[in-house]
Amino acid sequence: MLRFYNSLTRKKEEFVPRDEVVKMYSCGPTVYSYPHIGNMRAYLFMDNIRRVLKYNGFKIDGVMNITDVGHLTSDADEGEDKMLVASQRENKSPWEIAKFYTQIFMDNTKKLNIDLPEHICPATSVIEEIIDFVSKLLEKGYAYQTSKGIYFDISKFAGYGQLGMDVNSKKAGARIEVDSEKRHPADFALWINAPKEHIMQWNSPWGMGYPGWHIECSAIGKKYLGEYIDIHTGGVDHKTIHHENEIAQSDCLEGHKVVHFWMHLEFLQIDGGKMSKSLNNIFTLDDLEKNGFSPEDFRYFYFNAHYSKQQNFTYDSLMSAKNSLKNFKNSVLEHKEGNEKIDFSILNKYEQDFLNAINDDLNMPVALAVCQKLLKEKKSKDVYNLIMKFNKVLGLNFEDNGVTIIIPDDVKILAKERWMAKQAKDYSKADELRNKILAQGYNIKDSKDGYEIIKN
Ligand code: AMP
Ligand code: ZN
Repeated sequence: MLRFYNSLTRKKEEFVPRDEVVKMYSCGPTVYSYPHIGNMRAYLFMDNIRRVLKYNGFKIDGVMNITDVGHLTSDADEGEDKMLVASQRENKSPWEIAKFYTQIFMDNTKKLNIDLPEHICPATSVIEEIIDFVSKLLEKGYAYQTSKGIYFDISKFAGYGQLGMDVNSKKAGARIEVDSEKRHPADFALWINAPKEHIMQWNSPWGMGYPGWHIECSAIGKKYLGEYIDIHTGGVDHKTIHHENEIAQSDCLEGHKVVHFWMHLEFLQIDGGKMSKSLNNIFTLDDLEKNGFSPEDFRYFYFNAHYSKQQNFTYDSLMSAKNSLKNFKNSVLEHKEGNEKIDFSILNKYEQDFLNAINDDLNMPVALAVCQKLLKEKKSKDVYNLIMKFNKVLGLNFEDNGVTIIIPDDVKILAKERWMAKQAKDYSKADELRNKILAQGYNIKDSKDGYEIIKN
């Protein structure tokens, strides 16, 4: 049985999709600066869910937004559009900023071998759908107009605060004195009238403007997935403003609950505290690479903590993940060469344990422990095959050059002799030696200034 913790019901529930194909929505990045490794933890989490669903035989139709307009410096409708801030900082148009950081984000996901959703959708590509969504909310009486734009009226939605937001707290909305036209401080912007300096603006029934941040996710979800969504993911920071607002918009428009499972990832902490620019402790994947760590080391590091717990990042802990990963891979490759047979019932038990772990709300630390135990079995190709099956969830690259393939000494000697024969232009001897190497399951790849022994 596959079970996920649902933030909406605050308990672990059996996951059953509404239809055959799982509809999954993931809140994507705001593309105004380099994504840090905390952000990337959120997409490893998405990857983790997708791979576990696939392992269980489900097909997925997934979508992720790219926020390239409308996310203000405070989630609660205060401050400036982050894209505009970045565009002034870097002296580029917001379109150039979006293009640049979207590419960096995509490169990061590729390096981390993240299984991306079927659709990736920038907010600026669905302006028409957003306007349509907002118009319908207005028609149905869930929204109202002020001199600043169109706002959602939370008093019209009895279910507001389902994810735990305290509606009357100050945090719930912009400070009341900031906008006296709002009926409730937690009412939030659906459409914002654009001041001249806002470069990204579109014509709408309410004049030139741009969408609020929350509405893009509701509109994109509706466009690609329809009126029922099985799983919605995001970081915990989005739970009590962004996701409350998404629920309000979507449920009011459709007249029923749209999202079944809300799944939230806890934060990556640095040195036990918050990552923050002012503390100068934000790391990107690039920083890790400059310090000698591969993106895969970080992927493996992710598996060491449960997603619902804060995970503390230090270079020491990353180093220990790196070493474990190296041992893990070496051991897997040793099993690849193993000749022992392992009893079917024993293998079956490991397979069951692994499945139980991942299906218990993605318990990756336990799943890894199952793998470690399996690797301690006698050297057998059966172990290798089973780990390759588990690797559909782990997503590690066993072809990676960083892995030490143990090449037998006699093959090394043959390769050296062949190289010398070739240098001496004794090609028939070189061919003869190559055949001997081939017979041992290895081959030689020549390059301009040397050769490499590769495993066949
Ligand atoms: P943003 O680009 O700010 O919209 O954030 C992208 C994703 O990263 C969101 O799902 C956030 O919840 C998530 N996120 C931001 N900071 C962290 C962190 N330190 N650890 C884990 N996830 C984070
Ligand atoms: Zn979102």
